[in-house]
Amino acid sequence: MSKYNTLKGVADIYTPEIYRWQTIEDTAREVFTLYGFSEIRTPIIEYTEVFTRSIGQSTDIVDKEMYTFNDRGGRGISLRPEGTASVVRCYVQNNLHTLPAPQRFYYTGAMFRYERPQKGRFRQFHQIGAEVFGSEGPKVDAEMLSMINVLLKRLNINDTTLEINSIGCRECRPNFRAAIVAFFSEKEAHLCTDCKVRLKNNPLRLLDCKNEACATLRGGLPSIPDYLCDNCRGHHQRLKDLLDTLKISFVENPMIVRGLDYYTRTTFEVTTQHLGAQKAVIAGGRYDNLVQEFGGPPATAAIGFAIGMERMAELMEDSSARCQPPTRLYFAPLGKEAEAISLSLCESLRLRGIGVLCGEGDLSLKRHMKIADRFNAAFVIIIGQEEIDRGETLWRRLSDGQQGIAGITRIEEYLALIP
Ligand code: ATP
Ligand code: MG
Repeated sequence: MSKYNTLKGVADIYTPEIYRWQTIEDTAREVFTLYGFSEIRTPIIEYTEVFTRSIGQSTDIVDKEMYTFNDRGGRGISLRPEGTASVVRCYVQNNLHTLPAPQRFYYTGAMFRYERPQKGRFRQFHQIGAEVFGSEGPKVDAEMLSMINVLLKRLNINDTTLEINSIGCRECRPNFRAAIVAFFSEKEAHLCTDCKVRLKNNPLRLLDCKNEACATLRGGLPSIPDYLCDNCRGHHQRLKDLLDTLKISFVENPMIVRGLDYYTRTTFEVTTQHLGAQKAVIAGGRYDNLVQEFGGPPATAAIGFAIGMERMAELMEDSSARCQPPTRLYFAPLGKEAEAISLSLCESLRLRGIGVLCGEGDLSLKRHMKIADRFNAAFVIIIGQEEIDRGETLWRRLSDGQQGIAGITRIEEYLALIP
C-alpha cells in the first residue's frame, strides 16, 4: 500500500497513455508551426489580478475554482486556471506587439481549477492553446478553425462538431443582455441558485448553465443574432462564408457564450458525443478588448482557443497513437566482465541512434530472456565468459529463435542485425 497518494482530481500520466499525449503534442506543434505559430512559456503562478481582471469577477472560475494563496510577502498569488490571461500579460509586459506581425503563439501546460472531479473534469488538467494578436478581420477566425480541423484530421479524430456563435461587442451586447435579463426575470423563481446570481451579475452565463431545469427554461429565448450590430453581424457572416469556402462544416449554436468574461464576437466549441456531459474538447473565441484592458495598445484584436488534453486523449483511437519506440537489442551479460563489455557496446550503439538495453551481469540467462521479452526486444545478445574468451557474442532473434555469432567489438555486425 502506497503511503502517499495524489490529490483528488489530479492524475499521474505514464505508459501507455503518455504516448497518446505525446502524439497530440507533437502533431499540434507540427500543425501550428505550419500556420506560423511559435511557442510561448509563461509561469504557472501569477498575481491573482491577472486572472480576476480578465476572466471576470463573476465567473465560476474566479468565484469558486481558483487555487489562490498569499505568498510570504502577503501578495495574492494564483495557480493559472487557463492560459490566455498569462499570454496577454506577457504580450503587454514585453511589448510583443513590436515584433513583426503576425504575432501567433501557442502554449501547452497544466491548468488548475477547484472543480468537482468527474470523468473529463480534473483539478489539474492540461491544455494546448493558441493565440493570435493584431488581426481584427474574420479571416483569422476562419484560419484558426481550419487549423483545428487539420489537427483533428491528422489525429484521426473524425466524430466532432464545430459549433460557432457570435456574442457581439461592447456596442451591441448591452441590447441582448437586456433582452436576456427581461426574459429570465419572469422565470427567476424557477432558476437554479447559481443562475439567480448570474441573472444579476453575468446574465449571459444563463445560456450556458448545465442544470437541466435551467436548460428547459431557455425555450423561446429571444435569438441573440437578431441583436448583433451591423459590424458584428458582418464579421459573423463573413466567417461563415469563409468556412464554406474552406469546406469546413459547422453548426450555429446561439447558446455558446463561454465561461470567461473576456470574449467578444466569435465564440466556438468543438464538441463530441463520446465523453458524456463533458462534451467540449476545444473551446475559444475572440477577445478584442483584453490587450487594451491589460494596458496594451488600444484596439489590439485577438483570438484564441484551448484544447483539453485529457478529453482529446480520450477521443483518440489507440491505433492512431504512436507506441513505445522499440528496444532493438537487449544485451544479456553473464558476469561482471561481460557486464562492462555490454555496457560499452550499448553506449556505442546508442550513439548511432539504436535503442538498446543492457541487463545486469549477475542475472541468469533465464531472467535475461524474460526481461528482453517484456521489453519486446528484437534480439538478445548473450555475452558469457566463453564468448569473451572467443572474442564473439551469441545473438538470438526472439521472433523465430534463430541464432548467430557477432564479433564482440564489431559494432557494424550488431547494426547489420537490424533492418
Ligand atoms: P467546460 O464547459 O467543460 O467546463 P470550460 O468552458 O470551463 O469547459 P475552457 O475554460 O474554455 O472550458 O477550457 C477549454 C477546454 O479545456 C475545455 O473545452 C475542456 O476541453 C478543457 N477543460 C476545461 N476545464 C477542464 C477540467 N476541469 N478538466 C479537464 N479539462 C478541462
Ligand atoms: Mg468549466
